[in-house]
Amino acid sequence: MKTAIAKYNAQTQTEFAPKAIFFDMDGVLFNSMPAHAKAWVGAMREQGISFQEYQVYMNEGRTGHATINDLFLAQKGREATEDEKQCIYRRKSELFDAMGTPDVIPYIQDVLSVVKTAGWHTYIVTGSGQPSLFQRIERVFPHVFAPERMVTAFDVKIGKPHPEPYLKALQKAGLKPNEAMVVENAPLGVRSAKAAGIFTLAVNTGILMPDELQKEGADRVLPSMNELTDDLNFIKTLFAK
Ligand code: CA
Repeated sequence: MKTAIAKYNAQTQTEFAPKAIFFDMDGVLFNSMPAHAKAWVGAMREQGISFQEYQVYMNEGRTGHATINDLFLAQKGREATEDEKQCIYRRKSELFDAMGTPDVIPYIQDVLSVVKTAGWHTYIVTGSGQPSLFQRIERVFPHVFAPERMVTAFDVKIGKPHPEPYLKALQKAGLKPNEAMVVENAPLGVRSAKAAGIFTLAVNTGILMPDELQKEGADRVLPSMNELTDDLNFIKTLFAK
């Protein structure tokens, strides 16, 4: 952990001094990726487009419309129309909702307890536009997040893997990149956070090989939220006044 911070400081020519923590949502707060993967595979199959679950995880973080367009380009040799994008995304959301409410990610409540005692401000930065999950946040994580501390699919033009969503979060928080940290589970999310210059803790909660997260430059790659709790406790101690 100390090595990771030293490396971050050297790479960015700044001094890591966290005041806020930005959480991605799917696969970080909610164990929603298995249902997303199945919904994507199903919705695309109805269009005669092949989309494997591993590929869904590799694409995680992109907006739904961008994902649909990329698949159309690759397999139909043309862009998807606005109508097609809306229609397919609606269908994907329908299939997702039909699979029931996803559980929270194991040990995430422990992570949030550490965050609370450390006094870091909490933000959500997600490519999702899934209202059913947004409504659940306050119920499952009471008084942890707030609508004004969220960046969603509705707030961005480009979305991950572009740094835009994380830059927006920094702007909302009024912080410099070295004053925040990110918790991500997806390669493209890590790419986005690192491009914004933020210290990034990647937690591999899905089916990907861990090196997919390493390759994108994650400062830490951890197997579960349990290990993240240890990391955050360490960071908290390091910066305790
Ligand atoms: Ca995610």
